[in-house]
Amino acid sequence: MKHPANIGRGAKVALVSLGCPKNLVDLQVVASALRGAGFDVGVPEDAADAILVNTCAFIESAREEALDAIEEACSRKAEAAGRGRGAPAVVVAGCLPQRYRGKVLEACPEVDAILGVDDLDRAPEIVRAAIDRAAAAGAAAPAIDAVARGRSTRLFTAREPWFVLTPGPYAYLKIGEGCRHACAFCAIPGIRGRLRSRPAANLVAEARALVSHGIRELDVIAQDVMSWGRDLPGRPGLASLLRELDALPGEFRVRLLYGHPAGCTDELLDTVAASRRVVPYFDIPIQHASPDVLRLMDRRDTVAEVPRMVERIRERVPGAVVRTTCLVGFPGETDAMFEELLAFAKATKFDHLGAFVFSPEEGTKAFSMPDPVPARVARARHRRLMKAQAAVVAQKLDALAGTEATVLLESPPARRGEPWTGRTERQAPDDIDGVTFVRGLPATARVGDFVRVRYVGHTDYDLVAEI
Ligand code: SF4
Repeated sequence: MKHPANIGRGAKVALVSLGCPKNLVDLQVVASALRGAGFDVGVPEDAADAILVNTCAFIESAREEALDAIEEACSRKAEAAGRGRGAPAVVVAGCLPQRYRGKVLEACPEVDAILGVDDLDRAPEIVRAAIDRAAAAGAAAPAIDAVARGRSTRLFTAREPWFVLTPGPYAYLKIGEGCRHACAFCAIPGIRGRLRSRPAANLVAEARALVSHGIRELDVIAQDVMSWGRDLPGRPGLASLLRELDALPGEFRVRLLYGHPAGCTDELLDTVAASRRVVPYFDIPIQHASPDVLRLMDRRDTVAEVPRMVERIRERVPGAVVRTTCLVGFPGETDAMFEELLAFAKATKFDHLGAFVFSPEEGTKAFSMPDPVPARVARARHRRLMKAQAAVVAQKLDALAGTEATVLLESPPARRGEPWTGRTERQAPDDIDGVTFVRGLPATARVGDFVRVRYVGHTDYDLVAEI
């Protein structure tokens, strides 16, 4: 979308990022559009002409966090107005206004504008209009509503894909939007729409730009990366995209995040095993191990896949690290079904396992399903699963002592003599799998270096290594 030249005129915009990395990529698209229109982005909130809060609305706790952040932005606005300073405009973007436009404006009437997930490219004109609205305090103009009705259908590429908001030498490569599955508990297809894959050429160009700007790890994301390409002409699969990324020049690695078990094909596994750059890391939420619960969840296509999947990955990809996510307390989950999940998790020994307690989401099939599990029971199951996983992790980390790995250095020591912080292939960004502390690095070490280390110990979830 074209905007009048320099519509931003140097106006300062503070960005507040909430939710998952997919949301962060949307915020990068917005930030990049704003920069192109002459805005100065990423300033502190107390120096901003506008505060843009990019929200998540996946589950109740995410909505609460989003409303807290919006209220905080609104109180900054009120405080500045009370002191006679120019009050910053408040713009709310992302999943929350997309899903609950009315509720956002009702709960926070001081909000100047809302921006939906299909309107990211309108950010410059909307932020400009919001700033003008906030400056004309007292004029009772209605808030600006830039949220397209209905399911999301669009797909965006950032104007400057190398402009990233990640704090280290890594970047998220969002390869598609929406989801082709319809899990009974999940609100995402309703908010984000059906699967749309970005074309390979577009992704390869973005990857090239990121690597040439110093990015050393590309974290490939989507609602389900394994579905990539199914909606494109010729139905290319993720394996073909990985081969193209693998062939790019430069020193970097590639990591796959968020895959649906149904897409974990032998071709994909063999491609990862043969690749130079794609690390043998698989993040595949199984959600459950009881066939009955999987059927109730409308994940029938994973019933046959789940029991053998991890074994198959470990057989075909030497050194594979497997992360999964489980959902406990789904309606109809009996004690016996939960025990089945617990026994499976203990026997499978996932390298990383996260778990959520079911939260009924409006607009999903599971919202009105019978046989709800009492919250207390669900929480107790969650605790038992996480306790069992903590024991698995402790065993796994003990077994790593003395082995070698390659660390991507991400932050230097705060003080002399302290270790560097980095991540090995077994650790995804944003601290979800912990980090590796590296001792004994030379003074010449730099952020973005890959260094070979030997593990010497660990804390609960972090590893300690020496050069
Ligand atoms: S695969 Fe993931 S995003 Fe898609 S419907 Fe299921 S849980 Fe939601």
